[in-house]
Amino acid sequence: MSLNKVSVDDIDVKGKRVLCRCDFNVPLKEGKITDENRLVAALPTIKKLIADGGKVILCSHLGKPKGEPKPELSLAPVAVRLSQLLGQEVKFAADPEVVGPNAKAAVEAMKEGDVVLLENTRYRKEETKNGEAFSKDLASLCDVFVNDAFGTAHRAHCSNVGVSALVETAAVGYLMQKEIDFLGNAVENPVRPFVAILGGAKVADKLNVISNLLEKCDTLIIGGGMAYTFLKAKGCEVGTSLVDDEKLDYCKEMIAKAEKLGKKLLLPVDTVCGDAFPNPIDAEIPNETVAAEEIPAGKMGLDIGEKTAALYAEAAKTAKTVVWNGPMGVFENPIFAKGTIAVAKALAETDATTIIGGGDSAAAVNQLGFGDKMSHISTGGGASLEFLEGKELPGVAAATNK
Ligand code: ATP
Repeated sequence: MSLNKVSVDDIDVKGKRVLCRCDFNVPLKEGKITDENRLVAALPTIKKLIADGGKVILCSHLGKPKGEPKPELSLAPVAVRLSQLLGQEVKFAADPEVVGPNAKAAVEAMKEGDVVLLENTRYRKEETKNGEAFSKDLASLCDVFVNDAFGTAHRAHCSNVGVSALVETAAVGYLMQKEIDFLGNAVENPVRPFVAILGGAKVADKLNVISNLLEKCDTLIIGGGMAYTFLKAKGCEVGTSLVDDEKLDYCKEMIAKAEKLGKKLLLPVDTVCGDAFPNPIDAEIPNETVAAEEIPAGKMGLDIGEKTAALYAEAAKTAKTVVWNGPMGVFENPIFAKGTIAVAKALAETDATTIIGGGDSAAAVNQLGFGDKMSHISTGGGASLEFLEGKELPGVAAATNK
């Protein structure tokens, strides 16, 4: 897949109708936006299009209305907040069919630098099926398309993929460009040594990520719940730790693959365990640190131990590129968050390019206050995982190559 895409810096939008697919999928409570990070993140591309004299038509999905209008998932509150953030009116086209009389009239009346926001793209049942009728409706509104929604890049929908095929130029916005630059370069063209750190609950969730990264990286570090299936595959006692027995052979294969490729595969040497999974999740429960290969019967590994954390931090410090996806333990509980904190801290302190692949690890890094110390925190959990799996992302592939 070519990652060399036409960007908003390469196109002339003056006087043109530009449809810009953003990720305005913000959390709402009683019609109020409770976290506006995604709106703020979208501003640079929108401002650039305004400054260049485009007629800027914004669109996005919000939640899962499942192909029909749901008033509680309307983008109307986003239009209000975006107007404030941009300091100019964002006209909201309240069409239940997204591209309807309001949208058409609003676009018709636009002058250079004006901004219109369409209604939730998932009000249309074709959207998630990449159905032609809605793609055509979207394309009829614009001369140029810009995709800045990385969070949906792993899906082929009308508002990212379908419409791209029907316009002359489908460019990528700044957010999308940054994701492609960091994740794409890390996986395809990393500055070495390249260390990948994987955690999270289950091996099964990240089979292709483990296999692909093993080929690309120099050292693969495994922590979190998935480590115990690897440890069991090596013949260690793992007590009642989370194990996916169906994936034992897979883990053996990966251990053999690492050896064959001459890659380092690091597994925990010690582990912090408790009697059971904490319930409630932040419960203060008795815990002890034991050797990772001898977890006592009846004990459950819930975090990497101090020695492992030091080992992983050291490995991260020698790297020039680090990609991290998934927590090292049950980080929601302070007792079992130390391993995740140690890794986050090591990444914050290194000069290496550090890339955090969405979801829980991104949340953990931000919560711990290390967010601004990382080179890149991906905005798309699912999309970033598929990038790390080496898959072609439909939303990226659909953009025009340079
Ligand atoms: P990311 O979102 O960064 O990709 P993820 O969300 O995919 O990560 P998951 O596979 O969902 O990662 O795993 C995250 C969950 O794994 C956390 O809720 C954490 O509590 C849990 N977890 C981590 N270590 C363990 C463990 N040793 N035993 C059980 N659960 C664990």
